Amino acid sequence: MLVSYHSHSRFCDGKGEPEEYVRSALSKGFSAFGFSSHAPLPFETDWNMKAEALPEYLRVTRELKERYAGRIELHTGLETDFFAGCTDWRTMPGITYTLGAVHFLPHPATGAAMPVDGNAKEFKETLEEGFDGDIQAFGEAYYGKIREMLLSMPPNILAHLDVFRKNNAGDRYFDEEDEWYREEIAKTLDVVSLTDVIVEVNTGGMSRGYLKDPYPSWWILSGIFEAGIPIQLNSDVHHPDAVDFGYEAVRSGLLKIGFTKQRVLYGGIWQDVPL
Ligand SMILES: [Zn+2]
Ligand SMILES: [Zn+2]
Repeated sequence: MLVSYHSHSRFCDGKGEPEEYVRSALSKGFSAFGFSSHAPLPFETDWNMKAEALPEYLRVTRELKERYAGRIELHTGLETDFFAGCTDWRTMPGITYTLGAVHFLPHPATGAAMPVDGNAKEFKETLEEGFDGDIQAFGEAYYGKIREMLLSMPPNILAHLDVFRKNNAGDRYFDEEDEWYREEIAKTLDVVSLTDVIVEVNTGGMSRGYLKDPYPSWWILSGIFEAGIPIQLNSDVHHPDAVDFGYEAVRSGLLKIGFTKQRVLYGGIWQDVPL
């Protein structure tokens, strides 16, 4: 079943109207599609939705849901950020699901937000200024924050679990075989297993040219399969043309691992459907 519950539009850092994404999803044969603009933040960034745009976001996506009823099931969600003092969007009226993410970490001394998954320059800055160039300390802080989110404010869906490696193509900063990295992943999957959070398989790093494989890495997906953790294939789309970017190749990789199902919000309930 073709779906994506991870999408952006002009309400945050995506291009185009939400309806353009719906039309594209329909033309590709999608059964369901979810809007997940970056939730408003208490400080300025160039990628999140402004707080004053939230009522319009809710209205526009609700109207689309009504207009396209019977053709495609639409859902209004948010991609939320987890940090000290963050808003809990899970009970916000009009929001039916959240994708939880860690996009930035606090500077150890000043508390200022430092990007985790920015561009190459931003990643280097966070590493050097926040962690004195210690990639292991940076990685432990990131995965530690993910675990904290899972335990204290679990979302419906965990967004791009290992987005930490976005700028690590060619093992530029670390090797995923490194013991500390394997340990962080193992600990994180153990915590996911304690929850009923879905881990998304996200092709967004591929569509934007950062990586050749999805989040999480294939070896992590094998661990997820063995642990019986539910998955969901999402595109994290920022342009209407890319709603199913990489789906064919990634789906066949998932089938090879042994996955046959994905967990989706469909017919108003969370349920497992064929991948
Ligand atoms: Zn994200
Ligand atoms: Zn996203």
